Amino acid sequence: MRAAVMYSAGDVRVVDVPDATLVEPTDAVVRVTRACICGSDLWPYRDMAPDAAGQSMGHEAIGVVEAVGREVSRVRVGDTVIMPFAYSDGRCDFCHEGLQTACIHGGFFGWGGFNGAQAEALRIPFADGTLYPFNRSTDSSHWASLLSLSDVMGTGHHAARSARVRAGHSVAVIGDGAVGLCGVIAAKRLGAEQIILLGRHPDRVALGRDFGATDVVGERGDEAVENIRALTRGQGVHSVLECVGSDASLANAVAIARPGGAIGRVGVPHYEGIPAGPTFFKNLVVAGGPAPVRAYIDELLPDVLEGRIQPGRVFDRTIGLEETPDGYRAMDTREAIKVMIRTTAS
Ligand SMILES: [Zn+2]
Repeated sequence: MRAAVMYSAGDVRVVDVPDATLVEPTDAVVRVTRACICGSDLWPYRDMAPDAAGQSMGHEAIGVVEAVGREVSRVRVGDTVIMPFAYSDGRCDFCHEGLQTACIHGGFFGWGGFNGAQAEALRIPFADGTLYPFNRSTDSSHWASLLSLSDVMGTGHHAARSARVRAGHSVAVIGDGAVGLCGVIAAKRLGAEQIILLGRHPDRVALGRDFGATDVVGERGDEAVENIRALTRGQGVHSVLECVGSDASLANAVAIARPGGAIGRVGVPHYEGIPAGPTFFKNLVVAGGPAPVRAYIDELLPDVLEGRIQPGRVFDRTIGLEETPDGYRAMDTREAIKVMIRTTAS
């Protein structure tokens, strides 16, 4: 079968790999219908050291179950499913508490010997705990939004929840990528009154306003901090959704949070530490981490199916699997917000 493999920074190829097969009795094999490229895939795309064996890529997909192991009972062959970016057994204490990304048997697709989703098919460990079946007859116009539930929409929601977004509160969203834009959707959905999006790319800002951003700040650094203070009576915002993960974005988040406020961080951290002094003296909550998107599908799916939210609009380009290398290039140059990979003819 065909799959995307990264060999070094800037070098993604679609190559022949062994077919996905069942290994454990709790596995399923999913034929991928739609996959996509994640902002987090761009980190290795920029700095991966050469590796002759390569890294299997992709961790977001919807697809159809093609085979199940003998201990799989809830998921059936032929089910159409959402594949969250992390696999989880669905049975441990953390899974029961809704923190599947801390599952004691869990892990992330594309790592630890598990193939990525930018492929024709993939092996799913703990299929019953991991996969989320949805109705097969679901209109294909919903597919993009359903795909977003495998990562970006659930991650934006996790940022908002971790930042304690409440009705009537003020929110700032750092990052105008797909996760940040989904964070705007999540903040509005949770009732935020003021939603300030930090971004400058015209297409992204326009989509952010459609999703519910009330203000847009295009400056960076100190100037952005000043503008946000001016928009919030000099106080800062109750909630900051930190959707980037850089030193600069974390420093901004701490600077624009109101005393007693909260930062929900979902950008994979590429910074060393969290500023001890300002977070202490401002009584800030700093929360967040890998989003347990599996736990959030129950809550978000009805809003998608009934059209109340349309996170699938973050996909502004669709390509075939063989064109995946160009999809990376388009996202890396910010030509595309998020690229969807159409792996099948349907
Ligand atoms: Zn678990």
